[in-house]
Order: sequence, then structure tokens, then C-alpha cells
Amino acid sequence: MAECECLSGCIFFNDKMADKPATSEMLKRRYCLGDSRECARFMVRASLGKDKVPGNLYPNQKDKALELIKEAR
Ligand code: SF4
Repeated sequence: MAECECLSGCIFFNDKMADKPATSEMLKRRYCLGDSRECARFMVRASLGKDKVPGNLYPNQKDKALELIKEAR
């Protein structure tokens, strides 16, 4: 468990997404400051590249991330 390497440039962590879920602080603790390997944004970034991470993808949307990764292959 460690801080995500993407913290400084991540729009979710820096509250730059259009909608901020009420649970965002909890999600930050769980993913950004905890297990970033399970974060949907991190997964898409690692597989497809930073430019492919949707602006509205939240850390807990792992199913959506897997779908995007599958579609791209
Ligand atoms: S864990 Fe996900 S949401 Fe958090 S900083 Fe990393 S990429 Fe962004």
C-alpha cells in the first residue's frame, strides 16, 4: 500500500472532474492513498495510456475500465 504515482496529475485526486461524488474522500483514501492498482483510472492509464482515461471515470468503476481495455484490444 502506497500513494499512487499519478497523484499530482490526476483529475480525480485534484477534484478537477465535472462531478465530485460524495464519497470522493473515501475513494481517495482507498485507492489514491491505498491500493492504486485496483483503481479504474490507474488500470486504463497503465494499459492504454494517459490520454485514454475518460474524464468521467471514477476509481471504483473497475468493470468499466476492464470493458474499455477489452474494447481497445
Ligand atoms: S489511484 Fe486512481 S484516481 Fe487516485 S491518483 Fe491514482 S489514478 Fe488517480
